[in-house]
Amino acid sequence: MRPKNARIVEIVHETASVRTLRFDLDLDPVPGQYLMVWVREVDEVPMSISYRNGITVQLVGEATRAIFDLEVGDSLGLRGPLGNGFVLSGDRILLVGGGVGAAPLALLGEAASERGMEVSTLLGFRCCNDLIFRERFERIGDLVITTDDGSEGICGRASAGLERLNPRDYDQIYLCGPEPMMADVIGRCRGMETKIQASIDRYFKCGMGICGSCAIDPTGIRVCVEGPVIRGDQLAGTEFGRYRRGPNGLKK
Ligand SMILES: Cc1cc2nc3c(=O)[nH]c(=O)nc-3n(C[C@H](O)[C@H](O)[C@H](O)COP(=O)(O)OP(=O)(O)OC[C@H]3O[C@@H](n4cnc5c(N)ncnc54)[C@H](O)[C@@H]3O)c2cc1C
Repeated sequence: MRPKNARIVEIVHETASVRTLRFDLDLDPVPGQYLMVWVREVDEVPMSISYRNGITVQLVGEATRAIFDLEVGDSLGLRGPLGNGFVLSGDRILLVGGGVGAAPLALLGEAASERGMEVSTLLGFRCCNDLIFRERFERIGDLVITTDDGSEGICGRASAGLERLNPRDYDQIYLCGPEPMMADVIGRCRGMETKIQASIDRYFKCGMGICGSCAIDPTGIRVCVEGPVIRGDQLAGTEFGRYRRGPNGLKK
């Protein structure tokens, strides 16, 4: 698949280290799908789709720095939407996100709300300054916020918020965020693994299932094509929550 040229039509500074870029094209995604974002002369990196025409990027290293240097009118190359995306099912759903992991969940929650589903959301952030998409989640249902330092909502990790909700009240639970957080939530929802869908982060190179860089031990599930959304029961007994492989294939 050749990259499509996407011109930036809007840049929103969500926080000091998170920006949303809106493009001049409708990506028509399934919520949970991602793009391989080609930052010319720098790198090609995976980014979840946060709006029908946008991505939400956290500043991390070289490629994301280069994205932060772009202005309205500049362009990127986009391959996608790629991957499977979340499957909406049931009447009552719970979204659990951490940090920039809120990005694909916002699009998912809006799609669920449009279908008349009851949506509850639990979001964990380091502190109140990291909060993103509060209005988007409040518009579609109940929102519980946790912060590590207690500067907003419940003090503690997202799991502290889970103690206020009964996971068994929900038909389906959708996760996106730091892996320890997602592993912790799955661990607290024993017996519900088939009702959990988690968006997994691995090192993507090709984004088309060829290179094997993102394959999960020992199942071989290639996160870039069979994921990035993987059911909780398919993660049991795998590397998930224990280790992952870096760009050179070594465990880290
Ligand atoms: C399916 C998926 C969806 C993602 N969605 C988002 C999103 O919506 N918003 C967001 O801010 N980030 C998202 N990420 C993470 C994002 O891809 C990395 O933060 C980005 O690639 C960092 O690149 P860099 O050059 O700035 O940092 P670098 O300094 O090159 O790398 C820093 C860290 O970023 C990660 N990373 C770097 N390159 C890749 C790569 N090719 N594939 C996977 N991880 C990489 C690694 O953990 C690495 O240690 C997603 C990752 C995946 C796999």
